[in-house]
Amino acid sequence: MIGAPVVFGHHLHIQLALERRGRYSGSMLDFAAQYEAFRRRDSAWDGVVFVAVKTTGVYCRPVCPARTPLARNVSFYRSAAAAERGGFRPCLRCRPETAPFCPAWKGTRTTVERALTLIESGALDRGDVDELAQRLGVGSRHLSRLFAEHLDASPLQVALSLRIRRAKHLLDGTDLPIGLIAERAGFSSARRLTAAFARLYGKPPSAVRKRASASPKTATR
Ligand SMILES: [Zn+2]
Repeated sequence: MIGAPVVFGHHLHIQLALERRGRYSGSMLDFAAQYEAFRRRDSAWDGVVFVAVKTTGVYCRPVCPARTPLARNVSFYRSAAAAERGGFRPCLRCRPETAPFCPAWKGTRTTVERALTLIESGALDRGDVDELAQRLGVGSRHLSRLFAEHLDASPLQVALSLRIRRAKHLLDGTDLPIGLIAERAGFSSARRLTAAFARLYGKPPSAVRKRASASPKTATR
């Protein structure tokens, strides 16, 4: 489970995303188009944009079943890692941290996809960005620029986001002690795991575990 490759979404999904990108022909997608897609719960945008809700501090997938907030209360991010860096925590209903990575661009896509696969398999849990860039045959600054351009997040932020996702998955699905979960999720210590959860969820891992098994119906976005 830990070593599982990143799911990039189906080929069709990427194809659709590319078409969307093409239609708005810029690196920045138009706010009105994104909000409209969010309002319609358009699955073609799943993994392409992430919707952060200022009033709740939560971010969602465009397909989230919860009530659509007012346009003035939302902002859009291009990756789960970027939304988390912006201070938003993942919605408990639509689980945006598990949305497929959907790098919808041409040309430099391969490098970023390969980087994401390596990060998912732990490249930045054991090594640093320089080593990762070297394995990809590019400079580390170039790699960081590609990540900023396409995901609005650095390789390290993506790695942290994935570690948290793995830990959350283990907290939800197992009774393993926190120390073991930290290790299996790729954190260097339980302390790091606890700090990451405190920053993202505002509570310790044990509380996140209890809450997840309590009542998902009470969760809002
Ligand atoms: Zn949601």
